[in-house]
Amino acid sequence: MNDHVHAPVDLTKNQSLVMSALTNSDGPLSAYTILDQLRDHGFRAPLQVYRALDKLVEFGLVHRLESLNAFVACRHPDCDGHETLAFMICETCSQVTELSDMMLANHLKGLAEKRGFALKKTTIELRGVCAMCKAA
Ligand SMILES: [Zn+2]
Ligand SMILES: [Zn+2]
Repeated sequence: MNDHVHAPVDLTKNQSLVMSALTNSDGPLSAYTILDQLRDHGFRAPLQVYRALDKLVEFGLVHRLESLNAFVACRHPDCDGHETLAFMICETCSQVTELSDMMLANHLKGLAEKRGFALKKTTIELRGVCAMCKAA
């Protein structure tokens, strides 16, 4: 399918179609955009897309961007367990870059632990202007 580094999982036909729509896209896609792209492949209802997306997120192949209500394929070469994710979102070109930083992850975990909070998952969304757009 692609040169993705995550452990291969058996995807259903719908899951692979949604996965390739996201892999072939330059930026994040909403469920409705994915539905529009896949109508020719037999997708009719948003629920079909959401079901596939739920599984892909669970597998760690796709990440959900809450602030955009959109989804991106994981492009991080060593996405490690996906406990802490950070995304830089360019507000000019909509480019999304995934970041992974163990120091940041450990720091947040420490802050939470100090307050007796059992941290499960962190998603950080940084909004701004990417290097390319800044230079343009
Ligand atoms: Zn990832
Ligand atoms: Zn940009």
